[in-house]
Amino acid sequence: MRYVKISKQNTYEFLERLKKIGTLYAPHKVSEKFYDFCEVDDVKEVEFDYQRTIRPPRRFFYPEREVLFTFDTHKVELYENIPSKEKHILFGVHSCDIVALRTMDSKFLDDQPDPYYKVRRENGIVIGISCLPDEYCFCNVRRVEFVDTGFDLFFHELPDGFLVRVGTVVGHKLVDPYEGELFEEICPDDIENMSNFEEKRASMFTTTGNWDTLRYFMEMRLDHPMYMRESEKCLGCGNCTLTCPSCKCYDVQDIPSIDGRTGERIRYWDSCQFRSHGLVAGNHNFRETKLDRFHNRYQCKNSYCKDTTTSFCVGCGRCTYFCPAGIQFKQNLMEIAGYKGGTT
Ligand code: SF4
Ligand code: SF4
Repeated sequence: MRYVKISKQNTYEFLERLKKIGTLYAPHKVSEKFYDFCEVDDVKEVEFDYQRTIRPPRRFFYPEREVLFTFDTHKVELYENIPSKEKHILFGVHSCDIVALRTMDSKFLDDQPDPYYKVRRENGIVIGISCLPDEYCFCNVRRVEFVDTGFDLFFHELPDGFLVRVGTVVGHKLVDPYEGELFEEICPDDIENMSNFEEKRASMFTTTGNWDTLRYFMEMRLDHPMYMRESEKCLGCGNCTLTCPSCKCYDVQDIPSIDGRTGERIRYWDSCQFRSHGLVAGNHNFRETKLDRFHNRYQCKNSYCKDTTTSFCVGCGRCTYFCPAGIQFKQNLMEIAGYKGGTT
């Protein structure tokens, strides 16, 4: 792997140059407490130091709502709405969210790739950035606090800039033209500073251990009392799934136009926490109760993703942070597994 360094000031200039390649998105502070990925107009507004965004990065490849095709019943024709091949660059993605994108790939780029997702993924550039955890983070016990693949460049914070890991050929093409101008060779002090940052980060996690046994405990304790107790608090709002970087469920609807002959087929994010999610023909609901729906999310998120060799949940903490009922996902999982040490 190639390693280079960039100063903070040159990083702003690099962001300016990225804007010339395609649409640049990066974390912005959107309210007193919240951050979100926004299109970059002024590079000085990019936040390098943030905990989590409200909306997960998957929306740049699998948007909240999209038109799959339009139709005209009189001509019996479909007009596919495959996304354009314009480049888009996602700067400032945390390692947990990068692994979450790889879990999305495992579903959307399998034997029958989703053409909409595929085009966006092929034309998207992912640039990661290091971060320090808060009490909601547990990416470490998911083994995803440091990524090896899934990024084109990864920026590691240093006292005077960033140490940059170059992850792909695309990443090389972003760095090579500016070597000696914006990027420089790393020196022993930079390596030591990166090492110190990693050590500091490791010491800040409030949960420790290895959670690979969790999914087995969950299988063996399907009727654990936590499910009933916590599902009674759940409002069924869907925040936990809509903010989750690895949730994939969607619904598809045909929306006819008022002319009675044309229309569009849309796909939009759904949530297994909505009652309508399990409703099928004949008014049968295969997840009738809140307990069923709550149980499903816990099982689904903690199941094994073979492509990332960990669970679909990457421990980003969003589902707890944004839950209006204060349901503590991490603590509830620990209760099921019987993990005791290392939590707040
Ligand atoms: S965010 Fe909380 S209240 Fe809303 S559906 Fe999820 S667990 Fe229930
Ligand atoms: S289940 Fe919760 S902690 Fe896990 S990836 Fe989704 S939002 Fe993050």
